Amino acid sequence: MTVNATPTSPLSTQDYIQLEDQYGAHNYHPLDLVIEHAEGSWVYDVEGKKYLDCLSSYSALNQGHCHPRILNTLKEQAAKVTLTSRAFRNNQLPLLYQALHEISGLSRALPMNSGAEACETAIKMARKWGYKVKGIPENQAEIIVFENNFHGRTISIISFSTEAQYKDGFGPFTPGFKIVPYDDVEAVKQAITPNTCAVFMEPIQAEAGILIPHAGYLKQVAELCKQNNVLFIADEIQTGLGRTGKMFAFQHEGIQPDVIVVGKALSGGFYPVSAVMANDEVMGVFHPGDHGSTYGGNPLGCAVARTALEVIRDENLVERSATLGEKFLNQLKTIHSPHIKEIRGRGLLIGIELNTKARPFCEALKAEGVLCKETHDFVIRFAPPLVVSEADLNWAFERIKKVIESFS
Ligand SMILES: *Cc1c(COP(=O)(O)O)cnc(C)c1O
Repeated sequence: MTVNATPTSPLSTQDYIQLEDQYGAHNYHPLDLVIEHAEGSWVYDVEGKKYLDCLSSYSALNQGHCHPRILNTLKEQAAKVTLTSRAFRNNQLPLLYQALHEISGLSRALPMNSGAEACETAIKMARKWGYKVKGIPENQAEIIVFENNFHGRTISIISFSTEAQYKDGFGPFTPGFKIVPYDDVEAVKQAITPNTCAVFMEPIQAEAGILIPHAGYLKQVAELCKQNNVLFIADEIQTGLGRTGKMFAFQHEGIQPDVIVVGKALSGGFYPVSAVMANDEVMGVFHPGDHGSTYGGNPLGCAVARTALEVIRDENLVERSATLGEKFLNQLKTIHSPHIKEIRGRGLLIGIELNTKARPFCEALKAEGVLCKETHDFVIRFAPPLVVSEADLNWAFERIKKVIESFS
């Protein structure tokens, strides 16, 4: 088929869907709206219909869509220099390093692009630390990971996924990972051996359906790590940067991980920027040539990320997430429906677990102008931008209540 837009006959929603289905890989199952522009918490489709974004691109848009300050930085930096590669230095990377140090307390950072790349980096770093510092025999390092984890889609990361579909057809897999149940301290204790270099976990399992471990769990695991000279690596790609009402989700338990992985909202939705943070002893295992990325640490991404972090600070997004999240969660808990199994959340990361498939609810919510996406079949995830107004959340609540309570 040929599809040509003319000034008098622009492409329709169906035209775009047809083109996408015809020419694209079918590795996603999106809701059928075609977004044309967005601002703050709202997106507008090609038909001019508006929707409240309650997904925020899986928490990459904590600062909202097209934040004017970040946009301005992007424009200014794009006109100066965008890419130097790490063969040369640029004047933006050092400032991002400093900003990451300020939010994490860790002394050093390593910039990458996607979240999965940053997780791969953390894995490489932990293994190398295991061999060079801890003294684990060559090729024996083990990393403890968790059932229902989500850390991205590379071969090594899916090698320890417990989601059958993520692995189906993609073997052979990377060895060296020990999978234990989440939220079970004893299981971690049992799994640690002298060859364990790291425990790699999400402080809240978001993709798995907003699974929040019991109070004290992270603290006890961190303690076990300390006792056994094992690195505690926190994947804060989705839960970090204000999403759960703290800068990082692990701060709810007052712990300090050895390694923190961030991505997604680090660039406020403008540009893929991720980073791994650690102290000298751990980061020090990397020497020139050990690891890298052509675009990692590029000046455009660094400038964008630094402004994105400033927006989180200057607009009190962490506090907004905590207060608005608590109000929204309490509102949602007043919804009565036999379809609801549990409603849980922390900050503006909230899940409604149903005892039936969540997709039809997401479709119905879309028709009402509320955009959200099911995760793992039975959970509706609500993660609006942290700049969302209370009035907009009230507006969404009315529609969510109506959809769920009237669902037959
Ligand atoms: C999204 C996500 C990733 C992967 O990030 P990409 O940028 O999609 O590669 C890793 N870990 C967690 C917890 C995530 O939510």
